[in-house]
Amino acid sequence: MSSEFDAKWAEFEKMCLDCHGCGLKDTVTNVVIYRGARRAPLMIVGEAPGAEEDKEGRPFVGRSGRLLQSLIEAYGFTENDYHICNICKCRPPENRRPEVSEIAACKKNLAVQFRLVQPKVILLCGSTAYEGFFGSKPVMKEVRGQFIEKNGYYIMTTYHPAFALRNPANKLPIFEDMGKVRDKLTELGLMDPWVGINA
Ligand code: URA
Repeated sequence: MSSEFDAKWAEFEKMCLDCHGCGLKDTVTNVVIYRGARRAPLMIVGEAPGAEEDKEGRPFVGRSGRLLQSLIEAYGFTENDYHICNICKCRPPENRRPEVSEIAACKKNLAVQFRLVQPKVILLCGSTAYEGFFGSKPVMKEVRGQFIEKNGYYIMTTYHPAFALRNPANKLPIFEDMGKVRDKLTELGLMDPWVGINA
């Protein structure tokens, strides 16, 4: 990646670390920005960091994250293929859902992140990610598993991995949706169709 990109990325990280758009920053251990590649064809967006993410400073490293990671790897994605982040970069106390005002305050950070990462396919995990992205509450059963094409981007919503932790049967729809994401990236020529098949 060019030094110009590195400089822009450093500026973006500073913007997140210095952000006081809502009150959450004063209560966290770490501002959780991303894991994976800084530029990637797939962007996976969750809700907000939990306790483990807050401690480690990386998104999706707790129980939900381990489940998400197993699905990612099952489809042959490597670190270069994805960028994982959240709608909110600071952990809400007691793992509560972020408030609408907190989501709104963090949106400018996500917008810059989006411009830097330049994904082609976006996977929104759970209703908060959908709401943060589209500004309305989804009926998950209706929206999940379908691509919305917007300005050349392909956006898919699936259930949050925590939903599958509550009931393992819920893993199947997330697995299916991840497969559609994999197929879309292959169709767009952004992933090798054979990678991971024999893994
Ligand atoms: N849940 C999320 O939505 N994001 C994380 O980073 C961890 C758990």
